[in-house]
Amino acid sequence: MKPIEPALRTRRIRYAIRDIVVLADRLKREGKNILSLNIGDPCPFGFQPPSELVEAVHEAMKANKNGYGPALGVPEALDALRKEAVRKGIRELRTVFITTGASEAIEVCLTALLDPGENVLLPAPGYPLYSAIMGKLDCPLNLYHLDEEKGWLPDLDDLAARINSRTRGIVLINPNNPTGALYDPDTLKGILELAREKNLVVFSDEIYDQLVFDGNTHVATASLADDIPMVTFGGLSKNYVTPGWRIGWGMLSGPPEIIRDYDQAIQKILRARLCANHPEQYAIPVALGRARKHIPQMIEILQKRRDLTVEKLEAMEGVKCVKPGGAFYAFPSLDIPGSDKDFCEELLRETGVLTVFGEGFGQKPGTKHLRVVFLPPEETLSDAFEKMDSFLQKYRRRAEAPSS
Ligand code: PLP
Repeated sequence: MKPIEPALRTRRIRYAIRDIVVLADRLKREGKNILSLNIGDPCPFGFQPPSELVEAVHEAMKANKNGYGPALGVPEALDALRKEAVRKGIRELRTVFITTGASEAIEVCLTALLDPGENVLLPAPGYPLYSAIMGKLDCPLNLYHLDEEKGWLPDLDDLAARINSRTRGIVLINPNNPTGALYDPDTLKGILELAREKNLVVFSDEIYDQLVFDGNTHVATASLADDIPMVTFGGLSKNYVTPGWRIGWGMLSGPPEIIRDYDQAIQKILRARLCANHPEQYAIPVALGRARKHIPQMIEILQKRRDLTVEKLEAMEGVKCVKPGGAFYAFPSLDIPGSDKDFCEELLRETGVLTVFGEGFGQKPGTKHLRVVFLPPEETLSDAFEKMDSFLQKYRRRAEAPSS
């Protein structure tokens, strides 16, 4: 037999967050101590889900909720999500549905909207799942810049300039991965105005909506306009420390006459894939009800780690870091020779400090960054930043040394 040729679309799929782990795993097998500042999973760093959630899932399993569930989700959980939408100030709520992580909600909603060759505007830098899905759908990337000089807020002029005849929607991530930026209502209103003018669907990824620092509150995009078709993405993975449960959701909102056909198309896809993880869905009513007590403590811990991260990065020569307003990521810029990918891989090989290179998230040409996850305890972060600082100096000296 001849070798099996994979589909061309798979060539376009890149996922730097996982790709760099291949090298880290090899180094680990060779005995290197790895300091992981690379993955947005709170579980390995001492964070735990509220015990009530674990109990709710156990109870569901014991009550034999182990069969297929309803395609859109179990009624109790959908009811809790509708209440959560009201709490977020979303008024024109239409269909709410539960998925295998927010990841599946994102994939379903883009699949239900886009024909090959069409595009949605994606933030750069941004979470790479979106561009991977665009690759699968045979849709080209259309990236808009987030402006580092303005605290990584979307550059609205750039956004407007990139809308073309095949643009169907705008994605925004708030708080953002990988920059940690929290968007203010005026910025959100600016994006909504563009969507209104150009007849676009707005996808607001709010998976980190409860992890917001400095006493600020998160504003749901869909609470700011009733007349625009929108999907708000959320889930249990981050706020509730359960990424392995793969529970997420989408909340569709907007005027019924505009959104009806799109809503039906989403539901059709959801029916075709049976259901999201069934027993885990019973944690949703508990999570969105009484089990929020861990959030203030989580914010306090993360804020300390954020402060340490920014302080240590800013103290390094040629490194600048915009202070993240939420989530658990920082995206410092680096003044280094060569590419950030090379730097990131050498940093890993020599020091064991595992980050993700900026190129993997999309960034302005000519700029270089790393994504740093500040979930690890302060001692680990300090150790990693110390190693990064001395490596950075060595790296520059090496590049400046005349080659013999
Ligand atoms: N959206 C963003 C912005 C994320 O950072 C992530 C995970 O890192 C996801 C969605 C995926 O979340 P889930 O675990 O619910 O699939």
